[in-house]
Amino acid sequence: MIETLTPVTVRLGGQVRPLKAGAVLTLSQSQGWKLRAKAGEKVRLVPDGPCFACQSTRRWVSIHGAVVCPTCHPPTSPGLVKQWIGGRSEIAGVSPART
Ligand SMILES: [Zn+2]
Repeated sequence: MIETLTPVTVRLGGQVRPLKAGAVLTLSQSQGWKLRAKAGEKVRLVPDGPCFACQSTRRWVSIHGAVVCPTCHPPTSPGLVKQWIGGRSEIAGVSPART
């Protein structure tokens, strides 16, 4: 998801949409990155919003600090996971690391 930080006009699928600051858009991954590239500082990615690609709200935080969608990019090793965020914990084969 993308959140607008200032009023911005976006073009989506041939439609021009003026948006107020604070509007939240759910976009496909390619649309999201395009808008991010074009609008730059006027928008931000909402890290706890649904994944662009699969709409999952679950994330894992790597020991290197990256926040990653486990559906699109499952951790290759449980040792890489610092923290789980959001979503449901009962995803088959993936369980939160004990601390
Ligand atoms: Zn995903």
